Amino acid sequence: MQYKNVTAAKFKNIALVAHDNMKPALMNWCMTHKDKLNRHTLYATGTTGALLKNKAELKVTPLISGPLGGDQQIGALITEQKIDMLIFFWDPLEAQPHDPDVKALLRLAAVWNIPVACNQSTADLLITSILFDQEYPKSIPDYSSYLEKRT
Ligand code: PGA
Repeated sequence: MQYKNVTAAKFKNIALVAHDNMKPALMNWCMTHKDKLNRHTLYATGTTGALLKNKAELKVTPLISGPLGGDQQIGALITEQKIDMLIFFWDPLEAQPHDPDVKALLRLAAVWNIPVACNQSTADLLITSILFDQEYPKSIPDYSSYLEKRT
């Protein structure tokens, strides 16, 4: 696989997801960082998004609920380079019916070199990074040469 250098935007598109047992933790984290988060464009899976909008008063675009395809929607947005960061509080102590979708989302975030926080400590480190509000260089897969070989 070849890679190319791109610039991560200053104002980021951030996806927020929490499994049911983790929703209180994500809610608390979002309320703590509400002002900083509201300077960026936020997306969330359906139920997480509704909670963040109604209870945490965040400006968030809700997608489909995770088990109904919301994780896959976020994955698709990542492949289109429309998501710059993923805050995903997945539940390490309970099996999920949509586990394949969860794995697929985490895999695509790794493929596309997206910063991912799966717990509060990592989310704290991301949001306090000087790069959170700045442009920075990163590499992503470059598919153009692969496609050229096949045409
Ligand atoms: P939800 O989905 O926000 O609709 O609960 C989260 C998930 O389980 O992926």
